[in-house]
Amino acid sequence: TLSAESYRKRHEISVTGEGVPPPLMSFDSTGFPSEILREVQNAGFSAPTPIQAQSWPIALQGRDIVAIAKTGSGKTLGYLLPGFIHLKQRHNNPQMGPTVLVLSPTRELATQIQDEAMKFGRSSRICCTCLYGGAPKGPQLKELDRGVDIVVATPGRLNDILEMRRISLHQVSYLVLDEADRMLDMGFEPQIRKIVKEVPTRRQTLMYTATWPKEVRKIAADLLVKPVQVNIGNVD
Ligand code: ADP
Ligand code: MG
Repeated sequence: TLSAESYRKRHEISVTGEGVPPPLMSFDSTGFPSEILREVQNAGFSAPTPIQAQSWPIALQGRDIVAIAKTGSGKTLGYLLPGFIHLKQRHNNPQMGPTVLVLSPTRELATQIQDEAMKFGRSSRICCTCLYGGAPKGPQLKELDRGVDIVVATPGRLNDILEMRRISLHQVSYLVLDEADRMLDMGFEPQIRKIVKEVPTRRQTLMYTATWPKEVRKIAADLLVKPVQVNIGNVD
């Protein structure tokens, strides 16, 4: 079997942080419950992608992560599967609001994340809903009222629904900012900051980005606590 060092080298993974755990190079080594492993097998996946292999053990330790990796590297399951484990440990009441919150820049991406959550969370009975603009609020509010474990949302629509006081984020303890650079490019920083103010500070925060410019570094410094940084490939 490959050592952590040679696996990282081969897959261009670099990590910054204290005592970063070695990558999990096989699905069996993750310790994920059988209902999750079954879904992964059903999907026909043979091994974790590098971002998954390296970020799962960090996320499972409950630590904050900032991951810099390009599109198509498997980031969605990188944060969703540890999110499922987190959810199970909480035993929260879905009627009181979500435990896992994922912010995503667009309706299309948010919908894809929800699809992935429903597919891989089905046998774990995980309940996920999606909030995005450009569609009536009624059906989205109805879904929320039924109770949810995971909310995937664009910042604009979530902020509207927060202002209407139709969602509570006081139970959120696993917060994901997906495509953070794109959300900032789209001008969502004020909405993101308002949303995060409603999330308890005792939480795990994971940030995913394809690029690492000053603005993204700034928001990471403000929202994350001692994050482990994981870079895949040569990103700026
Ligand atoms: P990213 O968010 O990094 O752009 P996605 O999470 O959308 O990437 O994943 C890209 C594609 O790879 C998706 O179709 C996803 O189902 C698939 N995928 C995820 N993990 C694996 C894996 N371990 N093996 C093979 N395919 C995977
Ligand atoms: Mg993605």
